[in-house]
Amino acid sequence: MVDGLAATGLVRIFGGVRAVDGVSLTVAPGEVVALIGPNGAGKSTLFNMLSGQMRPGQGRVTLDGTDITGQSPRAAWRRGIGRTFQVAAVLSSFTVAENVQIALLRGRVWNPWRAARAMHRAAAHAALDQVGLAQQAGQAAGVLAYGDVKRLELAMALATHPRLLLMDEPTAGMASAERVSLMALIRRLVHDRGLAVLFTEHDMDAVFTTAGRVLVMDRGRIIASGPPAAIRADPTVRAAYLGT
Ligand code: ADP
Ligand code: MG
Repeated sequence: MVDGLAATGLVRIFGGVRAVDGVSLTVAPGEVVALIGPNGAGKSTLFNMLSGQMRPGQGRVTLDGTDITGQSPRAAWRRGIGRTFQVAAVLSSFTVAENVQIALLRGRVWNPWRAARAMHRAAAHAALDQVGLAQQAGQAAGVLAYGDVKRLELAMALATHPRLLLMDEPTAGMASAERVSLMALIRRLVHDRGLAVLFTEHDMDAVFTTAGRVLVMDRGRIIASGPPAAIRADPTVRAAYLGT
């Protein structure tokens, strides 16, 4: 049995394009793994298959040895997989705190819209405090700057206390100082909670300062894997991705 997340032979084809073409990977408890690669490499498609957004054409996903292939996002979430998206989506007419409360209500049977105002208030505030959004808790989510929307989405994922966090381009659209502080927050969470993280990121400083291991994806395949220093020096990676 493999502890943590393991994917074996994942394939997803879109109209003849092999978006993900036989990917296997593992993320052990407490491990921080970065997935890098050019636009169109298949990173988001791979994430979608790991978190239940999309069913793989072939292959298997296990969490702590249990097969979770093709399970719904809700089932993945209940098993302790938290997820943020490349394009953050929040409910703009609800407050920042209500968005987190609604995230906490996911998976319940009753209508979340009505119940969210009262439920999980303390848990929502704790999650917002962690990402530095406590001051904005009562504001409508629609008025937040984009970097704050990304942080809100992270708070929504963290509120459910995941063991594994999947983040697709968590700092996209953020200014450089904001990006540095978000990655510092991630490192703190990993240290304090033993959280495992798999993230995609274009900013190489964020990758090389945060990841313990880096996977490089190109045209649907993992073309290299190793510690940051080795990846940075790998001639294949430099040619395919770093552009040197
Ligand atoms: P990345 O996240 O690395 O930029 P994606 O996973 O978004 O890559 O895309 C990989 C490939 O799959 C691209 O060629 C993209 O156009 C294609 N693709 C992604 N999602 C879909 C979809 N829903 N329908 C058709 N093609 C898709
Ligand atoms: Mg993507």
